Amino acid sequence: MTDPPAPARQRSYVDLEARLAAVTAAPLRRRRIAQQAGYAIWEVRIPARRRIPRSRPRVRVLLNGGTHGDEPAGVEALLRFLEQRRYEAWPEIAFTVIPCLNPWGFVRGIREGPAGHDLNRAFRRASPATPEVSAIKQVLSRRRLTCSLDCHEDCDATGFYAYELPEVSALGHAVVEAVGAVGPISPDCVVEEIVPVRGGLARTDQLRPQAGDEIAAAMPPEAWRDFRTFVEAWPTWPLPIYLWHRHGARAFTFETPTALPLEQRVAMQLAAIEAVLQALTLTP
Ligand SMILES: [Zn+2]
Repeated sequence: MTDPPAPARQRSYVDLEARLAAVTAAPLRRRRIAQQAGYAIWEVRIPARRRIPRSRPRVRVLLNGGTHGDEPAGVEALLRFLEQRRYEAWPEIAFTVIPCLNPWGFVRGIREGPAGHDLNRAFRRASPATPEVSAIKQVLSRRRLTCSLDCHEDCDATGFYAYELPEVSALGHAVVEAVGAVGPISPDCVVEEIVPVRGGLARTDQLRPQAGDEIAAAMPPEAWRDFRTFVEAWPTWPLPIYLWHRHGARAFTFETPTALPLEQRVAMQLAAIEAVLQALTLTP
């Protein structure tokens, strides 16, 4: 007797793990950092391979993908970043790469984790419903990350946009320019009901409570004064907010529109990643 055919949207985690195993020869190291409903969550660490002048701070970057299982372009972009050895262009950067934070959701094409919770709203407080998040926080809390790049997608967007924390800088504009060469940039709009997007960049300095919004209703009025106050009052942190709060790590979240072809979205994610890496190593 054979198994019934899998639904078309099911993706293979076995394939993903085989691709990861194939790319991680020394000096790269692959390690299981958490377990999620029978799936291993993997990280690949790439040490810096060139000494940088002692006067310059070390650059340690986290690349994360697949927190939301229905956003596959980031997962694919990070696999190709490894397979195509794109990291070799930045030998002074130490990388931690987590290609797929939510394997259970990834194989099913579902945003949430196995307990039905959005993992990217579970990084503030430990919960028995999201043990994988607690395990990942333990691992990342010991890393001295200087920058995190988190690859997401937006099913409502018509073009790319990015969040930059703690605030929009010239680097954010460089990201938008680089992505604009390979795909469309989002028109000005409001995302997550409270965040204005201008020129492809989410303006977290201009958060506005909207009547009827869940987050807005839960926040005290003073929370909207500035972004740090907002973060302190926000009970459900995404990963980049946790890393910014924990490490002071500059944090980017990239959002590609799922309506576009996968290959184009992967190219957009890689353009965004590489624009940041380039700038990090040029900045004195
Ligand atoms: Zn997402």
